[in-house]
Amino acid sequence: MKLRLLLVIFFFSFVNLEIARFDNYRVYSIEIENEIQSQVLQELEATSDSYLFWDSTQKIHQKVDVVVPPHKFADFHEIIKKFSFKLELKIDNLQRFIDDQQPKRQRKEEGDMNWDDYQSLETIYEWIGFLQRDFPEFITVEDIGLSYEGRTIKVVKLSKKQNNRAIFIEAQIHAREWIAGATATYVLNEFLYSNDPEVQDIALNVDWYIIPIMNPDGYEYTRTSNRNWRKTRSPVSLTCDGVDGNRNFAFNFLTADETGNLGASKIPCSDTYAGPSAFSEPETLALETYIASIREKFDVYLSFHSYGHLILYPFGHTIYNITDYEMLQDIGDAMAAKTYLIDEIQYTVGNWNKVLYPSSGPSIDHMYGQHNIPIAYTIEMRGNGPYGNYGFFLPSNFISVNAMEVLNGLIGLVSKAQIILLIFSFTIGSCEKARFDNYRVYSINIDNNVQLSVLKEIEQTSDSYSFWDSPTHVGENVEIVVPPHQFAHYDEIINKFTFRTILIHENLQEVMDKTQPKRQRKEEGDMNWDDYQSLETIYEWIGFLQRDFPEFITVEDIGLSYEGRTIKVVKLSKKQNNRAIFIEAQIHAREWIAGATATYILNEFLYSNDPEIQDIALNVDWYIIPIMNPDGYEYTRTSNRNWRKTRSPVSLTCDGVDGNRNFAFNFLTADETGDLGASKIPCSDTYAGPSAFSEPETTAVENYFSQVHDQFDIYLAFHSYAHVLLYPFGNTLEPVPNVEMIQDIGDAAAARLYSVHSTIYDVGNSKRIL
Ligand SMILES: [Zn+2]
Repeated sequence: MKLRLLLVIFFFSFVNLEIARFDNYRVYSIEIENEIQSQVLQELEATSDSYLFWDSTQKIHQKVDVVVPPHKFADFHEIIKKFSFKLELKIDNLQRFIDDQQPKRQRKEEGDMNWDDYQSLETIYEWIGFLQRDFPEFITVEDIGLSYEGRTIKVVKLSKKQNNRAIFIEAQIHAREWIAGATATYVLNEFLYSNDPEVQDIALNVDWYIIPIMNPDGYEYTRTSNRNWRKTRSPVSLTCDGVDGNRNFAFNFLTADETGNLGASKIPCSDTYAGPSAFSEPETLALETYIASIREKFDVYLSFHSYGHLILYPFGHTIYNITDYEMLQDIGDAMAAKTYLIDEIQYTVGNWNKVLYPSSGPSIDHMYGQHNIPIAYTIEMRGNGPYGNYGFFLPSNFISVNAMEVLNGLIGLVSKAQIILLIFSFTIGSCEKARFDNYRVYSINIDNNVQLSVLKEIEQTSDSYSFWDSPTHVGENVEIVVPPHQFAHYDEIINKFTFRTILIHENLQEVMDKTQPKRQRKEEGDMNWDDYQSLETIYEWIGFLQRDFPEFITVEDIGLSYEGRTIKVVKLSKKQNNRAIFIEAQIHAREWIAGATATYILNEFLYSNDPEIQDIALNVDWYIIPIMNPDGYEYTRTSNRNWRKTRSPVSLTCDGVDGNRNFAFNFLTADETGDLGASKIPCSDTYAGPSAFSEPETTAVENYFSQVHDQFDIYLAFHSYAHVLLYPFGNTLEPVPNVEMIQDIGDAAAARLYSVHSTIYDVGNSKRIL
């Protein structure tokens, strides 16, 4: 009995889900070629609750998308024939189309937020809460009011420094335009995590106010009940709900344009119903109240919508241009130019009334007309294009490309606006970063002692030349970076001392740009080896490893860098009583391949199917420091790609010690020929430091290693570049006691290295080879 009751209850709730469905509903694109056709469609729009128009029907010479339900197929065919409409079937079964795009089931956990899917209001708000917790110094969240059904409307404010001017983004006032809200959150996420200097610039120098979901009731309704819903959810007649929030603002509320077009509807059941009065909706009223309180902070107001690839400026209710339309056209064109660069999608820029259709009471008209915010755009994003015809139902795999287009557009907007209006007092791209445009890199042969002395003198006295290898002995090649102002000087020196030299790179900046990380999203699974990753991403990944493999991954923080970054050791131990190998990577900041190789190897140890790799992962314990010099590494990513040293101050004008010259054993000890193999000059790239272990980084490793050293037989330091396996010592040619063994093992390693891509590694004593 009880069981039956349970089953009955289950059965009941199962069939009672009231969801609008669109099985076999068709979507047509219809061309409006004349006044009569326009009137026909307007009549249909005004009188029918069967046909669902996705565009306004008021304008001649445009196409509108309309949803036709099965019971109207015959009527529709009659109308099409009678008035000779041209049309195209875009979707033949709307429900199938909606089903394909339903969010996938997902786990509920921290870090739930992602952009592979459209997210629920709950997930978005939870994510906003995490941002507030993680970035308390520059993220503020304000609840600006409640929706009709009592949901909170949130503004996220990003302010990274004082006295910035601000840009306001309002997204998804139209419930079904899911891409609008997803783009708003994506952009916010990029502001926090992007490595792109232009994105960092606009995140730093502009304050951003973002309402990701302006119409939370409507949005939830599209997720639970009717994917095609546009309006708010307040009751407006006996049988209809909802007001078009973007027709509900006060400025020129329900005002017809010069051709008599209202640009909104007075009929409650219509999708563009303007509401009983301006700001009748709690959502629009909350926004208006909030904007009025902080109006003076803004120069730019943006409203995110879909679809149409449009950048629209005021007004919607008049066919005449606003007085400063040229400025808005210029800035819009700059946005469109940047947007186009991502995926060659061409956005059209123009006056709302002309480019789209007449509309009265939209938010941007109110912000521009009532609050005098000088730059106001509605952005209509992707929907139908060369990538497919999806209308409001853009699949979630387009979120990221769409958002990157908009983000790039924002960069265009800010850079153009600052030129025209002088409102943003910074220049994009000028964040102080070392550049090497037209810097040349030469390889120089050292054929005699005079040449050696010349290069040593340059290395010790010049801060414009930069050596990639220290000149130490006759017979070697060294690589040197020559800045443009030294081209003549370099040429003179080369001729005077008859150096043999080869130009390796004509333009060092170009070479560096190729290795710059691509833009990336911040989410779990962010780690990959298509790019060099930030310290943050690497450490986050290490955290995931620890969580996912608690039985054999241990992570230890062994100390802090000079600037306070953690130095982490990842320990992999799959069984007891293994002997261990230690890998220390990237003590030299610019040698990015070292750290990337260390993490790659660790990843292979965990995931490779190769039995030989599985063997060494199982039977050896591995201790890996992926980034030994985190300050230097971050500095190469943000400021100077060519940086080698740590970041501690060492003289009035110079920073950094060569960590790999800072260990105690034979610290600053000359070899038999008197060569130090390190520098005592603070500004030098091989400066050994004021004393051994002067650097917190090397001290941390030393302290850690002295606790665990009895577990190890092998210590490896990863560097680049030269294809060499070097063993001790660096300061003498005298062979180490176990030279034969260490040479044999090195040869075996070199043989395996060669077997992968035929790269020849040289094995030998450091001093002899380098
Ligand atoms: Zn919209």
